[in-house]
Amino acid sequence: MLDIRYEKTTTPKEIPGPEDPLVFGTIFTDHMFVMDYEEGQGWHDPRIIPYAPLSLWPSAMVLHYSQTVFEGLKAYKAEDGRVLLFRPDENIKRAADSCERLCIPTIPEEDFMQALHAVISVDRDWIPTRPGTSLYVRPFVIATDPFLGVRPSHTYQFLIILSPVGAYYPEGLDPVKIWIEDEYVRAVRGGLGQAKAGANYAASIKAQVKAHDEGYSQVLWLDGVERKYIEEVGSMNIFFKIAGKVVTPVLNGSILPGITRKSCIELCRSWGYEVEERKISVEELMAAAVDGSLEEVWGTGTAAVVSPVGHLRHQDQVVAIGEGGIGALSQRLYDAITGIQLGRVEGPKGWVVEVK
Ligand SMILES: *Cc1c(COP(=O)(O)O)cnc(C)c1O
Repeated sequence: MLDIRYEKTTTPKEIPGPEDPLVFGTIFTDHMFVMDYEEGQGWHDPRIIPYAPLSLWPSAMVLHYSQTVFEGLKAYKAEDGRVLLFRPDENIKRAADSCERLCIPTIPEEDFMQALHAVISVDRDWIPTRPGTSLYVRPFVIATDPFLGVRPSHTYQFLIILSPVGAYYPEGLDPVKIWIEDEYVRAVRGGLGQAKAGANYAASIKAQVKAHDEGYSQVLWLDGVERKYIEEVGSMNIFFKIAGKVVTPVLNGSILPGITRKSCIELCRSWGYEVEERKISVEELMAAAVDGSLEEVWGTGTAAVVSPVGHLRHQDQVVAIGEGGIGALSQRLYDAITGIQLGRVEGPKGWVVEVK
């Protein structure tokens, strides 16, 4: 059990009202959780303090060599007032895997869980209640040694910050246009692709800018070696419904193992769909789009939950998927997962955890 020290703000901010737009990642609550690590001493001084700038040396290792990992999950306010988290144990396990890959000391699972509950509980009045809104929770760890050499840091800070976010699709599920990138790559097997590391995003920005300039909202990455097999979208995993079957790229070491991905696979199987986790080449995908067997395409991730894809572009070939709206299975998954997250529908055991 962590002995968390509380230092509440004396100057609380105004909590956004139901009419205020909540642009993703722009508004932060009054408090944050912080805990320090020092070699020999371990994780110590857990505290909930006012949200404020950090004090770091300009030589802090994270600023130079990106020894940092993060997580992302959401807290929801149910209609009966309960505060719910969706599969937080999965985020905690994935954080441990990410830490392990970047030589960062892991945070004990029960301490991580306690920290999540404590900080969300303090700022629970910030959880918006309009349909589709939630409190985005961003845990992360940074290497803080003031040292310009490459080795694992001896000191770290673990933080959790909270941000109220609006509906991802205020006008309903709107299909996105996806650019299949064949010049830049995000990750290679053996690299950081399966860790939730900021460095993966640094590698992705160039292609994201390119896709935006071409009028596409997201990049679909191909494998880093052959540039042939589908990996994932910017911050989402990708699913296809081809001739009645659900197909998603198999976790190969360079794809991020999404919790929404895992949940979609489990739900589809429970509904009787055949789900194939396997390699799928861009040629196979484009051929399925052309011959009409590609019935639905959707991305999965905590931010959007399910994001239908309406267009794919690979080199000079552009294909439209379905009739431009959301596919029936994508809609069913979206309704099922958001229903479970909001406590309206009973999900599989353990998927929803209440914050007291
Ligand atoms: C976080 C993330 C995802 C989605 O994971 P969820 O656990 O479903 O939110 C997919 N791809 C990348 C690169 C990510 O960082």
